[in-house]
Amino acid sequence: MFMVNEVNCIPMLASIGVNGKRVTEIPKDTGIKDFIKSILLSHPDSTKEPFFVLDLGLVKFLMDKWTQNLPSIRPFYAVKCNPDPCFVAYMASLGANFDCASQAEIELVISLGVSPDRIIFANPCKPESHMRYAASVGVRITTFDSIYEVEKMKRCFPGCQLLIRIKAPDDGSAKLPLGVKFGALPHEVEPLLIAAQSVGLDVVGVSFHVGSGSTDCTAYHSAISAARDVFDTADKLGLPKMRVLNIGGGFTAGPIFDDAADAVKFGIQTYFQDRMTGLEIIAEPGRYFAEWPFTLAANVIGKRVRGELIDYYINDGVFGSLSCIPKEHVAVTIEPLIIMALESDPDNPNGSGSITHGSTVFGPTCAATDMVAKDYQLPDMEIGDWLVFPNLGAYSAACASNFNGFKGVGISTHLVYSNNHS
Ligand SMILES: *Cc1c(COP(=O)(O)O)cnc(C)c1O
Repeated sequence: MFMVNEVNCIPMLASIGVNGKRVTEIPKDTGIKDFIKSILLSHPDSTKEPFFVLDLGLVKFLMDKWTQNLPSIRPFYAVKCNPDPCFVAYMASLGANFDCASQAEIELVISLGVSPDRIIFANPCKPESHMRYAASVGVRITTFDSIYEVEKMKRCFPGCQLLIRIKAPDDGSAKLPLGVKFGALPHEVEPLLIAAQSVGLDVVGVSFHVGSGSTDCTAYHSAISAARDVFDTADKLGLPKMRVLNIGGGFTAGPIFDDAADAVKFGIQTYFQDRMTGLEIIAEPGRYFAEWPFTLAANVIGKRVRGELIDYYINDGVFGSLSCIPKEHVAVTIEPLIIMALESDPDNPNGSGSITHGSTVFGPTCAATDMVAKDYQLPDMEIGDWLVFPNLGAYSAACASNFNGFKGVGISTHLVYSNNHS
């Protein structure tokens, strides 16, 4: 067991006003699971409620990696992906800007001391009251893709600067495609630019989103090409020169990020080489920053054995922090954390851990759809053991509900800072 070295907050985090939250420094070569085990063993009588661990060291690593790969593209973190205030505050301290889609998201970011010129109101269809609020606090840049929005913005968002949101031509391979809901089609661009011009609103650039969890990097290439067509349309209409290219989100951390970054750079070089002067390129990554740094721990609260098959019931599920499972049709990784066998037999800390069984893991609600994993190989566990879910920060807690009376909203988060990343 390692020693936990508690530093009372990373100074940057304290300085921007997330008070009272400790950050535990995790030594090199110690995993988050070891940290979780250490807190469970040092607080055996704790409530056994599920909790998150947020690794700020990993957030820093991801930001450095972004800057290395895409040095000239300013990231506007998409708050909807995970609005955890400590996470958002730490992102702010690292220099991130923010993509907000609602009044509450803008309020959160402003409350952390971020100036409004670091916020883009990136929702093409905005409630009027939210627009009035944005205008009142000095947010200026927003997106649109409909004639009807132009009239609303004219009335409720005076002085706003617009990015026209276009539909990315190839968003089919994404985990969560977004093109069904938003994005102007090629033949709609010209009337939209003219409509904005006619009411005196400036369209300063173009935005798109290739879909969340995109696996096809060529989607960026075709979308950047489509964006260039819009710049040319504005020129043809004699409108002021466009100067902002917003390549949206869709990035995933890991080797696939390097490929996506290469595709973006290649696309920009191919289609914008002659327009680089004065061009500002921004992005709205959500998943890229939020997915890896969060780890969830949930407690085994029930068990059923039927022959070879074992069912476990845990105290978080698809209506809570594991809400990303049904939406994205992806399997999560589960790491069992055996605590009970350890108490009964300290010499055998893995319990009967070497033998695994096909297991089903259910969440706590009475809905049959509350299934976290099926046919997952797990060691024999007891009620009171824990399951650890790494890389669970994207569209997880953000979409949680309190369905059936099980608390999914606002479960606690431990802050750690690890130095394991290179
Ligand atoms: C959701 C969203 C994002 C973030 O997408 P990721 O795939 O998580 O990177 C960015 N921009 C807009 C407009 C969004 O709606």
